[in-house]
Amino acid sequence: MSATRILLLGPPGAGKGTQAARIVKRLGVPHISTGDMLRQAVAAGTDVGLRAKSVMESGELVSDEIVTAIAKERLAQEDASSGFVLDGFPRTLAQAKALGSLLQESGISLECCLALTVDVNALVERLLKRADIEGRKDDTEEAIRQRMTVYAEQTEPLLDYYRERGVLIEIPGMGDINEISDAIEKALETQ
Ligand code: AMP
Repeated sequence: MSATRILLLGPPGAGKGTQAARIVKRLGVPHISTGDMLRQAVAAGTDVGLRAKSVMESGELVSDEIVTAIAKERLAQEDASSGFVLDGFPRTLAQAKALGSLLQESGISLECCLALTVDVNALVERLLKRADIEGRKDDTEEAIRQRMTVYAEQTEPLLDYYRERGVLIEIPGMGDINEISDAIEKALETQ
């Protein structure tokens, strides 16, 4: 048996998206990325998109209120009832607490928080390359450095939060993609 209510944690560029795609393929649960949902909202020009656009481009975080609302709506959809892989949410302690309450209302909790551990300097390089290839507007060098600072200040404390709840598993995230996937698969089976 594998855990199916999973959170992937790690700084931008750590490979969360790639690993999330592999986990969801194997487990048949939805990949829930607040970053993707926000980019869609920006592209569609919705109210949320209009409010989020400049914040995302600067590398800051969109408000807890907005992202918690979109995550809540997504988690309430039928396909998330058998599990999910959260990627990029929660990113602050307030979001983690909101998620905890939200799941508790349905009588469930996160089974596993997989944290990809990485070397930040190598990551910045990786992000600059990705920005070049994908033309992501939120990936200017200044924004990338800002996103790293924001991660260290606001998101890293979640490691302790989930460690205290006994669900944290740290996975070295700088190696070969297939080896990282294998390590994740093994870790999930023990949960
Ligand atoms: P990502 O693709 O997950 O790196 O997200 C891209 C950008 O969307 C981030 O830099 C934030 O500006 C915003 N964002 C995505 N998820 C969240 C979240 N959980 N809380 C706040 N902002 C978020």
